[in-house]
Amino acid sequence: MLDIPALRAALLAWYDVQARDLAWRTGPAAGKAGQRSDPYRVWLSEVMLQQTTVPHATPYFLSFTRRWPTVLDLAAAEDGDLMAAWAGLGYYARARNLLACARAVAADHGGVFPDTEEALRALPGVGAYTAAAVAAIAFDRAANVVDGNVERVMARLFAVEEPVPDAKPELKRLAGELVTGAKGYGRPGDWAQALMDLGATVCRPKAPLCDRCPISAWCEGFKTGTPETYPRKTRKADRPRRFGVAYVLTRGDATALVRRPPKGLLGGMLGLPTSDWRAAPYTDEEAVAAAPAAGAWRDLGAVEHVFTHFSLTLRVFAAEGGGDFVWTPREGLSALPSVFLKAALATRRLL
Ligand code: SF4
Repeated sequence: MLDIPALRAALLAWYDVQARDLAWRTGPAAGKAGQRSDPYRVWLSEVMLQQTTVPHATPYFLSFTRRWPTVLDLAAAEDGDLMAAWAGLGYYARARNLLACARAVAADHGGVFPDTEEALRALPGVGAYTAAAVAAIAFDRAANVVDGNVERVMARLFAVEEPVPDAKPELKRLAGELVTGAKGYGRPGDWAQALMDLGATVCRPKAPLCDRCPISAWCEGFKTGTPETYPRKTRKADRPRRFGVAYVLTRGDATALVRRPPKGLLGGMLGLPTSDWRAAPYTDEEAVAAAPAAGAWRDLGAVEHVFTHFSLTLRVFAAEGGGDFVWTPREGLSALPSVFLKAALATRRLL
């Protein structure tokens, strides 16, 4: 029988000493001194971290909170400014939801984040994970915060043989038992963050550092001798591949950009003009026929980009010309979404 209070005490004691110093975090010592986490900062960091790593997200978080220090400041931001600031974080639907959520907090909640998981979940773009994370970390609610890191720790701790994704509900249930208990446990915010830190720094995906792990005494996966083989996996279907063409049309030092439709992938962002993205590669003739303007189009090779649901091979064609576009100087291209930046850089390298 797993001694949950002992396991919790060991992990929280480890967290008291080993907690990562993160830009958005109120550390365990400050927490014990009564300092609370700002829900705005917790929410913003969680949205950013859903698609990228801590080192990549940190400069974005710092620049967002310098520019928009409160949720009311963010709610008043221009859509285009926020989209440009988000460029490089990928997955632009999240940036649109970020604005929608900030505006809902401003308009419907007087600029104050609601403090329950249920009310947080009702905000635009706030899913079950983010609602649980904000409820636990900012409001110390006993919410079950389960991301990929926590799933991995649970799969190993309990040596769950069922492969993911089918095992996900069971992994969530097991994580929940460590959070709520019959009578409830203390420090829910620190518990959620301690598990996240354990998964990120010790119970790592490929090479868990079990000899440094504060909960190895209770870990069934550790006892098997091959903890890294958990969670068990079913073979993943390959990501589908799509093909497209990006057009780098230049006029002197300026490059032609277009504003993408508000809905859909990279919606509302400025980008290079492209063909449709489809299942079959484009021939040279098709690529030139789909160009946004007449010109002496030159084939400059291709770049690869991986989106969440598909991989894209994007041929790059370049020409000089004119037309009704958003003409952008060379230094302005660095704010482009990474897929277009890659194409623009490929052009520069090959020209
Ligand atoms: Fe992960 Fe190893 Fe700790 Fe088990 S003992 S939780 S496998 S790091």
